[in-house]
Amino acid sequence: MEEAVGLLGQHAGNVRVLAGGTDLIPSMRQKLFEPEYVLDLGRVSTMRGIRSTPDGGVEIGALTTLRAIERSEFLRQRYSVLTEAAATVASLVLRNMGTIGGNICLDTRCLWYNQSLTWRKGCGFCIKKDGDLCHVAPGGTKCWAVFSGDTPPALLCLDAEIEIASGAGVRRVLLNDFYTGLGDNYRRLQPNELVTCVFLPASAADYRGVYRKLRVRGSIDYPLAGVAVVMKRSNGHVADARIGITAVNPAPLLVKGASEMLAGKAVDQALAEAAGDMAAKISKPLTTSALTPEYRREMIRVFTKRAVMAAAQIANLN
Ligand SMILES: Cc1cc2nc3c(=O)[nH]c(=O)nc-3n(C[C@H](O)[C@H](O)[C@H](O)COP(=O)(O)OP(=O)(O)OC[C@H]3O[C@@H](n4cnc5c(N)ncnc54)[C@H](O)[C@@H]3O)c2cc1C
Ligand code: SF4
Repeated sequence: MEEAVGLLGQHAGNVRVLAGGTDLIPSMRQKLFEPEYVLDLGRVSTMRGIRSTPDGGVEIGALTTLRAIERSEFLRQRYSVLTEAAATVASLVLRNMGTIGGNICLDTRCLWYNQSLTWRKGCGFCIKKDGDLCHVAPGGTKCWAVFSGDTPPALLCLDAEIEIASGAGVRRVLLNDFYTGLGDNYRRLQPNELVTCVFLPASAADYRGVYRKLRVRGSIDYPLAGVAVVMKRSNGHVADARIGITAVNPAPLLVKGASEMLAGKAVDQALAEAAGDMAAKISKPLTTSALTPEYRREMIRVFTKRAVMAAAQIANLN
């Protein structure tokens, strides 16, 4: 790993990291990234694997494939929302290649951006790459490209932290602080930095959870709306709960106030509906993706309600 970090520092700004390559390679073909060097992490074995930590949590190497996560009985027993979310990413072939680190670092997406060079040139480019206007919010100066990874909302619900390494050393940050909320500079990662590991705390292991996802083709597509819900019970009531959403904003988000709304209550349809309203309120889908923004926002409401009911059932709350 030291060698990889060294090479990254040496060529910072001119190099792109390749993990599974399932997003990077198509993006390079479309000339969205044109690095001089590609740093293939494939042989950095220390960044692969699922290990329990001395404090009872778990450490997942950034190069661990989504398929390995989906198939891990250890993770399924303790962090089922993550295994469920991982199992919905793309297709089996892509999950065999795609990694958790790549899923966290995934570039934001937009119908005006994920196109060939010729296509983008024909439209006069846009703020995210090579241009200075936004086709989605004309007149604005902000890029609204949407974060479309499936595992980050689950990881946010589990209070995940990530380890970031560079020549200057190692730092550990809450995943919740990693995303900027901007469509173009969407993550807080310097060009000489590498995400090396994901940590899940022991305290998140007694939550039960589910992930619900909207996509056009169930066999392969990116999410157009995604909801993760985790819940912990005590004496037939919700002791704590969290809701994470994806694919409707430039960053995956935790729904603020969800825990306070659900804690101490028995789950019923009315409570689940109120949680759905809360999640829909912070969803700001635009015309960056297939399906209308109105429909995607409505599906966040519906999926949140269903996911809260399902999580309550798994946690034996209703
Ligand atoms: C047809 C198709 C369908 C897809 N559907 C979905 C879907 O449903 N849900 C979904 O979430 N994703 C989807 N994807 C995207 C992708 O397959 C996954 O997000 C996958 O997890 C990306 O991981 P990777 O290892 O292949 O990343 P890569 O392609 O190798 O990298 C992705 C980005 O992250 C950076 N990166 C990777 N690892 C690190 C690291 N350790 N440190 C710093 N930067 C890093 C790369 O430089 C690059 O910018 C789809 C892709 C395709 C082609
Ligand atoms: S939201 Fe606007 S600036 Fe961002 S990628 Fe789409 S068209 Fe470009």
